[in-house]
Amino acid sequence: MPELPEVETIRLGLKNIVGRKIVKIFRSEKKLRLEPSLDFQALKSAKISEIFRRARYLIFNLSNDLSLIIHLGMSGRITLEREFKQLKHDHFACEFNDETWLVFNDPRRFGFVDLVKTKDLSRHKMLTKLGPEPLEKEFNFSDFFKKLRSKKTNIKTAIMDNHVVVGVGNIYANESLFDSGISPLRKTDSLTKNEIEKLISSIKKIIKAAIKSGGSSISDYVDSHGNFGRFQDDFKVYGRPGEKCLQCKNLIQRIVQSGRASFFCNQCQK
Ligand SMILES: [Zn+2]
Repeated sequence: MPELPEVETIRLGLKNIVGRKIVKIFRSEKKLRLEPSLDFQALKSAKISEIFRRARYLIFNLSNDLSLIIHLGMSGRITLEREFKQLKHDHFACEFNDETWLVFNDPRRFGFVDLVKTKDLSRHKMLTKLGPEPLEKEFNFSDFFKKLRSKKTNIKTAIMDNHVVVGVGNIYANESLFDSGISPLRKTDSLTKNEIEKLISSIKKIIKAAIKSGGSSISDYVDSHGNFGRFQDDFKVYGRPGEKCLQCKNLIQRIVQSGRASFFCNQCQK
């Protein structure tokens, strides 16, 4: 599933479409996770004025005071194409005035494309109640500490909770915990001040490194130009059960927490 670094990589790859005008719109008949709030025909003649990301949502602000929100769900892709082939799982596409296309393809249809008034963005049901962005200063000790103290769960599940911090999915939660030397089994209220500070810096470090590597391609993720990410080559624990820890040669463990696989080294992570 595309996590924050993958969505950010897609955003960076779409920079060139800012300023382009939408001339044609395609929408398949298939249901996605959300029905669009406004008719997509309102996109016609609008120019892309800005593209930003909040958590795993890509937001395209348009010149006519509307905003397009795209969420990739489990298997979504956004690519820029020279021509629109209308492949089986293409659910949304728009042509620009330079005859290129932005295409949203989603085989499993857990993603969505929504169109709202820009002024209503902050009230969108998927965007309210989101925690801080991991790379922003709002993700800091005092906020994180408060949230961890109010939770009665393990630290792995806590950092994957969008109310605590957004965009830390399973891969990056596992890798961040290994980097900070903290076991995924630890209870949130047992972490010391030093451990919390270390974990914050590990999450920032891992997310930054993953963006720099163009994200991780473990199933079928590609960026907007069809390129694979490279961060999977740097995984220290994720997807390596039974293999040797790169730090201590102990074998990597695999357990399931809140329905998701956790990978860790019980020597390096306490
Ligand atoms: Zn180890």
